[in-house]
Amino acid sequence: MERKNAWTEYSDKDLKEIEKLCKDYRSFLSAGKTERECVKEIVKKAKDKGYISIEEAIEAGKPLKAGDKVYAVCMKKTVALFNIGKKGFEEGMNILGAHIDSPRIDVKQNPLYEDSDLAYFDTHYYGGIKKYQWVAIPLALHGVVVKKDGEVVEINLGEKESDPVFCITDLLVHLAAAQMEKKANKVIEGEKLDLLIGSIPLKDEEKDKVKLNVLAILKDTYGIEEEDFMSAELEIVPAGGARELGFDRSMIMSYGQDDRVCAYTSLVAMLDAKNVDKTSCCLLVDKEEVGSVGATGMRSHFFENSVAELINLCGDYSEIKLKRCLKNSRMLSSDVNAAYDPLFSDSFEKKNSSYCGRGVVFSKFTGSRGKSSSNDANAEYLAVLRKIMDDNSVNYQMAELGKVDIGGGGTIAYILSLYGMEVIDCGVAVLNMHAPWEITSKADIYEAKKCYVAFLKNA
Ligand code: MN
Ligand code: MN
Repeated sequence: MERKNAWTEYSDKDLKEIEKLCKDYRSFLSAGKTERECVKEIVKKAKDKGYISIEEAIEAGKPLKAGDKVYAVCMKKTVALFNIGKKGFEEGMNILGAHIDSPRIDVKQNPLYEDSDLAYFDTHYYGGIKKYQWVAIPLALHGVVVKKDGEVVEINLGEKESDPVFCITDLLVHLAAAQMEKKANKVIEGEKLDLLIGSIPLKDEEKDKVKLNVLAILKDTYGIEEEDFMSAELEIVPAGGARELGFDRSMIMSYGQDDRVCAYTSLVAMLDAKNVDKTSCCLLVDKEEVGSVGATGMRSHFFENSVAELINLCGDYSEIKLKRCLKNSRMLSSDVNAAYDPLFSDSFEKKNSSYCGRGVVFSKFTGSRGKSSSNDANAEYLAVLRKIMDDNSVNYQMAELGKVDIGGGGTIAYILSLYGMEVIDCGVAVLNMHAPWEITSKADIYEAKKCYVAFLKNA
């Protein structure tokens, strides 16, 4: 069942909409390079569309009703948006879920050192990366340093044309005979992923002169001391914004498209939705790349607690109502899929791979080694979704991640499925997934958005 290429049938109107959507998407990617920055952008866009925070709703003390829009944020890194529908909560919600954290390199809590007149940040990478891809490219520093008095100092350096950038160095090829013999996972090792940050020594100092000069600059620019790194979250990401790719400009190349491509298209669908029957929810979470753990990961109670607050705000909360609401909900757990790459055809099974340009991807299951750890979506649910997609002229394809037993992966789908709700993995095909720069097709971004709009309206 080969699916058709979506580009072949687009009207001028479609092409215009694609350009508009993808231009805004690129701005979102360039502005949101950390989960905190994404939450800021998302909340700003939600407020513009009339959303109020759950705290504001509680403060106002007025019962919420159909058409009201509320958002909840967890520790500035995870956000849930709700658009209250005409039907009662017991009939369930339509949920769009995606994650806004991406693989990257984090700065350690005792990061600063100097060696041979060069100053460095020591780091610990976050999520699954091929370490050798992160060397010898310009890098930017994003994040916060929180001082003991609670002041949050924001750092965003390396993005503007006039900003300096940072780099993790690699060995020149002339001296790399031994390195080139190593396995790819040993070519660059985790402890060698240290960031070069300065080289001018401070005058009149005995030792650590370069480090001290960097500290002087940090004190001067941000008002922070070396000890403040203990309470900092600094993320090292590829420097620069999202770009179009190809002579035909049909693709987007950017850092962080896993999974901001699904997060952004879900958000747009959510913000556009009006007069929904069932309550709509858009859940954009942190920590997926490290197993959905912690207070801001999907496995925390944040989502369930937020739904409880919401039901309470609508009048009469009860535990059974909350349970029925969650059980009767339907969800698209939206995460990226590995696009078929002809240069690595050995890793894919052609009939069950996703292809750039053939639309949004549904994966009945994920997991690895015999579907282990997978949420295996119900055939009945798949049938419902096929009908919604066809009725709304959404281009979609059905795929799994690579060949059997070659690897695999997981998403947040299995966590929501614990409530007994219908959940399926759904998302956009990506080339170069988890590399510093990932590639998507504009057509697939457009089809994903159409899919999410149709889902919120009809599921
Ligand atoms: Mn992902
Ligand atoms: Mn990922």
